[in-house]
Amino acid sequence: MDSQADHPKLEIFFFPYILGGHLIPMIDLARLFSSHGVKATIVTTPHNVLLFQNPILRDQQLGHAISFVTLNFPAEEFGLPNGCENELTTTNGDMFTKLFMAAMKLQDPLRKLLSETKPKPDCLVSDRLYPWTANVTDGLGIPRIVFDGSGCFSHCVEESLRVYAPHERVVSETEAFVVPGLPNKIELKRSMLPDYVKSQNVFSHFLNEALEGEINSDGVVVNSFYELEQAYADFFQKEMKRKTWHVGPVSLNNRSIIDKVERGIKTSIDEYSCLSWLDSREPNSVLYISFGSMPRITSAQLLEIAHGLEASDHPFIWVIGRILDYSSKDKQQVEMALLPVGFEERISKSQRGLIIRGWAPQLLILEHPAVGGYMNHCGWNSIIEGVTAGVPMITWPFSSEQFYNERFILNIIKVGVSMGNEHWVPLKELPRVTIKSDKVASVVNRLMGSEETEVVQMRKTAAEFRDKAMQAFQEGGSSYNNVDAFIQELKSRRKVQNGHL
Ligand code: UDP
Repeated sequence: MDSQADHPKLEIFFFPYILGGHLIPMIDLARLFSSHGVKATIVTTPHNVLLFQNPILRDQQLGHAISFVTLNFPAEEFGLPNGCENELTTTNGDMFTKLFMAAMKLQDPLRKLLSETKPKPDCLVSDRLYPWTANVTDGLGIPRIVFDGSGCFSHCVEESLRVYAPHERVVSETEAFVVPGLPNKIELKRSMLPDYVKSQNVFSHFLNEALEGEINSDGVVVNSFYELEQAYADFFQKEMKRKTWHVGPVSLNNRSIIDKVERGIKTSIDEYSCLSWLDSREPNSVLYISFGSMPRITSAQLLEIAHGLEASDHPFIWVIGRILDYSSKDKQQVEMALLPVGFEERISKSQRGLIIRGWAPQLLILEHPAVGGYMNHCGWNSIIEGVTAGVPMITWPFSSEQFYNERFILNIIKVGVSMGNEHWVPLKELPRVTIKSDKVASVVNRLMGSEETEVVQMRKTAAEFRDKAMQAFQEGGSSYNNVDAFIQELKSRRKVQNGHL
C-alpha cells in the first residue's frame, strides 16, 4: 500500500482578483474546499491578507489546511498608494485602469511561486479576469479552473449577444429586443448594454481574452446552485460546452456571527448595535439597502433616495458607502451635504432607520428575520446572498453585467420588482439621477407594504429558494456533491499522472 507521504493532501491554489466583489467569494470558496479536506492556498497581496486573516486563523484552529501566500502588489509603479488594492470601496475611473494594469504584473511572481512549489499543486483556481494565468499553468502542466463569482445566466446572455448581436437590429436605445436562443424569453434594451458590447473598445478586447481563457480552461466553478438556474446551468454546459461545477452559495460557509461580521474590511457598526436594532423590529418589516462594494451613487441621487424612504414610511437599514463627487475639491463639504437637513435626526428619533456609513455586516443583516426586502445593484454576490436569505428584492442595476442579472431576478426566478433604471454606465463614471423620490417611495411601498398577489407570491418563492439553497449546500445536496466530485476528479487526475492507472 502507498504511504501517506506518497500521497500528500490534494492541494488547490486559489488566485482571486484583487477587488471586493471577486475577492470575497473566492475566499469563501477556498474555505469551503478546505472544509472538504483539501489543502487550500490563497495567493494574494499582503494588504488583502490583513482583511481576511481572522477567519483563516479560525479555520486553521478547526484543523483545516488553509493558508495564504503573498505576492507583492506593484502599486507604486503605477502611481497608486501602497495598500490601495483593496479598501474594497476603492476605485474611480483612473484608479480602476491602473489597478488592472498593476494586477497584470503579478504574472511573473505567480509563475515563480508555482514553479517553486513542491510537490506542484493539483490545480489553480484563477479569477476569470486573469486570463494570462493560462500562460503560467500551461507551461507547468497544472490544471486551471476559472472562477468569476457570477452565475451562468449572465454568461448565457453575453454569449447570445456576441453570437446574434440582436442589439444591432434595433433603431433606438429604448426599443426592446429579445435575446435569441435562450431557454426563456428575455428582453433588453440597447441603453442597458455595456459600451464594450455595443462597440469594440479596450475592455472588449480584454473580455475576449477572458472568454478565450475560460473556453481553454479545464472547467468553471460557479457560485450558484443547480436548482436556482437549472436551464442556464444546462445551457452553459451543453450549448456553450463548459465543464461546470455549481458549488454555492459559498457565503453559506460563514456560519458563525463572527464569520459573518469579519468578511472583508472592518464593519462600520458593531454586531450588537446592529442585531439589537433588528431584534426590535417586526419580522419581514425592514428594507435593507446596499449597492455593493464600490461607490455608485451621486450625492444628488442619494437625496432622492432619502426623500423616497421618508415618504414610504417603512423601516430600513441603508448602507451608504463612500460617495464620490469627482467635481468637488473639498470632500468634507460634500460629505456634510449628503442627506436632507434633519433626515438623520428624524429617522434616529423615530427609530425608523439605521444608516451605516462605510462597510456593513451584510450576511448578518440579510439573514435576520426582521429583514423583508433588499434593494441592490444586482451584483451577483448581492443576488445570491439575497436568495440565500430568502428576501425579495428591489433591483437597481447600474453597470457591468448587472442589467442581465436584473432580468434573472425579474423574469427567471421572479423574486423582485424593478426600480426602473435603464441606463448602463461604465464603472469609471457615476450614474446620473434617473430615479426620483416619488418612484423610490412607490416601489418601496409596493414590495414592503402591499398584499397584491404578485408580491405575496414573490415572498413565497424567495422563501422556497432559500430552502433549496440550504439543501444544496448541506451534506448530500447538489453543491456539496459537486465539491466532492471536483475533488475526486483531481484525485483521479493525480493518479493518472503518477502512473497508478
Ligand atoms: N458587502 C459587504 N458589506 C458592504 C457592502 C458589500 O459585506 O457594506 C459585500 C457583499 O456581501 C457582497 C460583496 O460585498 O459579498 C459585493 O459583491 P457584488 O457582486 O454584489 O457587487 P460588487 O461590489 O462586486 O459590485
